[in-house]
Amino acid sequence: MIHPVSPGSIFMLPHGTRIVHKLQDFIRKQYSKYGYEEVMTPLMYKKDLWETSGHWQNYKDDMFLIKSGREEEGCQHHYDQDQQNNIDEGLFGLKPMNCPGHCLIFDSTPKSYRDLPIRLADFSPLHRNEASGALSGLTRVRRFHQDDAHIFCAEKHIASEITNCLSFVDYAYSAFKFPKYELTLSTRPKSHYIGSIEEWNHAEESLKNALNTTGRPWTVKEGDGAFYGPKIDIMVRDSSGKSHQTATIQLDFQLPRRFGLTYVDENDQHQTPVIIHRAVLGSIERMMAILIEHTHGKWPFWLSPRQGIVIPVATQYTEYAKKVANSLSLGNNSATETQNAVDRYYVDVDTSPRDRLNKMIRQAQLQQYNFIFVVGQKELDEGTANVRTRQGEILGTMTIPQIREMFASLNAKLE
Ligand code: ZN
Repeated sequence: MIHPVSPGSIFMLPHGTRIVHKLQDFIRKQYSKYGYEEVMTPLMYKKDLWETSGHWQNYKDDMFLIKSGREEEGCQHHYDQDQQNNIDEGLFGLKPMNCPGHCLIFDSTPKSYRDLPIRLADFSPLHRNEASGALSGLTRVRRFHQDDAHIFCAEKHIASEITNCLSFVDYAYSAFKFPKYELTLSTRPKSHYIGSIEEWNHAEESLKNALNTTGRPWTVKEGDGAFYGPKIDIMVRDSSGKSHQTATIQLDFQLPRRFGLTYVDENDQHQTPVIIHRAVLGSIERMMAILIEHTHGKWPFWLSPRQGIVIPVATQYTEYAKKVANSLSLGNNSATETQNAVDRYYVDVDTSPRDRLNKMIRQAQLQQYNFIFVVGQKELDEGTANVRTRQGEILGTMTIPQIREMFASLNAKLE
């Protein structure tokens, strides 16, 4: 059978998709705190935009190009020297990054210094035509999602914005209980860089100061910055000791110029903003792979795709089991819910053929459900469930509101 998708395009099944949603919701919850606005932007743009951004000249081989299925009028008969131009004119590029789209949003209305910083966040899927030899599981794929964002700011904002990005990363990685992560600063390349040495020195100084305020060790990769600006990369080690690049914080002096972006300063002068490209999770698919290794599939409750399963002891209790699962799956509005929580819960119902109860419980534990709810006649009469944990601890009979309280409290503590 012919494989119907390109290598590196992955199918995300229901429980994998739950994890993606949990990670996105977790990041999304922090956006109001850190002052981000979420936006949605097109997947494909005309060739001209990629020429403006510089991707056409420097990144085309790593992009997927698409052509309209409809022949442009007259095109099919003109096989002359303009043929290539005609073909190119109708070309679109699937976006490998969100930056150009966000520049268009910034540029859509006049901006003043009072509007800055503007922080635009985007979970769009991205496509990169990675060489097939470079593809690897979930860690390097051709279609992936980032918790991408671009901060448009004045030079004086750089230090505080970088500090906030680093604190966002620290908040997330502490929640994931990563024992450690590594910070590196990549500085001005020896040649082929844009901008003045003064700008670079100032930007690198701002990044160093921000790194120092974290109190964490960091290292320098001399000359390893992008041609458009210095950057901070964050690496996480998986349980086998392999290092993966996850978060990134990059200063960019070039893109705002290429797009002719400006804002009006305090003295009514037009100024070019600086762009900070930043991602906290990086590729969500890659972060998922690291977390699967890190947790050995035993997800903490707040991130788990299998937070609970209701097991009816006999088929006549299936309806009640579904009712319990539904009321637990709904978001919890109790007082203990906090801004930290990801407030949708995933509770399934065991509808497999009935077996011995112990065997069904064992099966649910092997599937790493955080909580197992057994229901029969007694529970139906009382409106309760018999609760036990993944580790086999028996919590006993609980009412549905009590279980919801327990969920909310675990969620609030990110446990
Ligand atoms: Zn970017």
